[in-house]
Amino acid sequence: MNRNLLSTHFFLFIFVAFVFTSCFTDREVDERIESIKAAKRGIGASSNEILSANKFSSIDLEIQYMEGFPPNQTSIGTIVNWMESLVNKPVGINIIIKSIPAMGQENYTLDEIREIEDNNRSSYNTGSALGMYILIVDGYFDQDTDTEFSLGISHRNTSLALMGQRILENSGRVGKPSKEKLESTVLLHELGHLMGLVNLGSNMQVEHEDEEHEHHCNNKDCLMYWAVETNILHNTVNNGIPNLDQNCHNDLIANGGK
Ligand SMILES: [Zn+2]
Ligand SMILES: [Zn+2]
Repeated sequence: MNRNLLSTHFFLFIFVAFVFTSCFTDREVDERIESIKAAKRGIGASSNEILSANKFSSIDLEIQYMEGFPPNQTSIGTIVNWMESLVNKPVGINIIIKSIPAMGQENYTLDEIREIEDNNRSSYNTGSALGMYILIVDGYFDQDTDTEFSLGISHRNTSLALMGQRILENSGRVGKPSKEKLESTVLLHELGHLMGLVNLGSNMQVEHEDEEHEHHCNNKDCLMYWAVETNILHNTVNNGIPNLDQNCHNDLIANGGK
């Protein structure tokens, strides 16, 4: 073999090896690829990982909002307290919050929401910490109809999105709930789906799935009632944030929650 060619190859090998070892070890690169893949499963697939301490002892919950659409500080406290009351995470829940540039679109498709997440999310599983992700966009969901609007959606095993513009328009005015109450309620409802409710990874201990709205609770007063994530329930001022009813709570306990 030509001697020059041999030495060029040798140099390239050294160079590649140096680049890899200087940033991440091969093992760290493999783990990162695996944890990104692990975050692309269906809703409910991580319910046991979220609820129990079997695999993860803490949660890194990343919240990214488009400029102009930050969540209320009180809402974040409400989410953390609510999760801590239901999940077995001895090391706790860590919030990572950051703004991202507003995109100025009126509507966002599911594919676009996922692409924005893929381009910005940093909280993936690392060691014993489970990564979760909330995106707040500056527009509406493109699957809205003339009468029924989504305020938020859960769309992967550890991912949910809030329709920031829709939340603003349906809160903080006469006859509407406060923004803080509305965004907290919708976020808790979507987190309930990620925890496997209803019949979405956390098996029902007794039958209570709404026959007309799958993966929702048949109890009108429950947080997991279908209308909670739409504009329909929130057209009137009602009392505080709805709680999980006993049936939903029992399903979480049976799947490793508390
Ligand atoms: Zn729902
Ligand atoms: Zn329920």
